[in-house]
Amino acid sequence: MILEKIKIAAKNCNRDENEITLVAACKTQNNEIVENAINFGQKFFGENRVQEGIQHFAQNKPNDVQIRLIGPLQSNKTLDAMQLFDVIETLDRPSLVKEIVKLRDKGVKTPEFLIQVNIGEEPQKAGVLPRDFDNFLNSLRKEYEINPIGLMCIPPNERPSGPYFALLAKMAKNNGLSQLSMGMSGDFETAIKFGATHIRVGTALFGER
Ligand SMILES: *Cc1c(COP(=O)(O)O)cnc(C)c1O
Repeated sequence: MILEKIKIAAKNCNRDENEITLVAACKTQNNEIVENAINFGQKFFGENRVQEGIQHFAQNKPNDVQIRLIGPLQSNKTLDAMQLFDVIETLDRPSLVKEIVKLRDKGVKTPEFLIQVNIGEEPQKAGVLPRDFDNFLNSLRKEYEINPIGLMCIPPNERPSGPYFALLAKMAKNNGLSQLSMGMSGDFETAIKFGATHIRVGTALFGER
């Protein structure tokens, strides 16, 4: 089972399994499945879409459950996302930052943020390009007074993930960012080896979508 696999992967690289948080990626799952996971003790959930997060959690979100936005955030959904999520992992562009700051300055509570990095520089993927990263982080911290707590990435499908995870881990370390959200069903063991603190797992937890 997945928890056992996480344990083994952590042990294999001399990491404490408690440093690794399993985030249940629950896109396309119905409310009953999500509730069952909560009843089973799952505390962390990842949502790809704001609307689906509302469907899963607006009526029923236990206090000790944390929900994280792991899909791209459209600017017009920013208010809903800030109100619903504990963590937004996909901060990826200045226009979104401006929208967040506008709402924050009106008194909307801010969740925690991770920056999504387009680690493989793929045109079809969201995320800040590695070459733009320093500027983006600087402006977040200095200009906008937003202090992100980590980085998130989705490496290219067709290549081994290890080198991409290593690069993301290095960027996080160089900048004092503690959370590393990387690794999915196919590569979470590799991600653990390279220092993931949060792995986002759908298929290996819920079955094929
Ligand atoms: C769907 C998804 C996951 C989980 O993918 P699986 O391969 O089903 O484990 C993780 N992260 C993001 C951003 C996703 O969209």
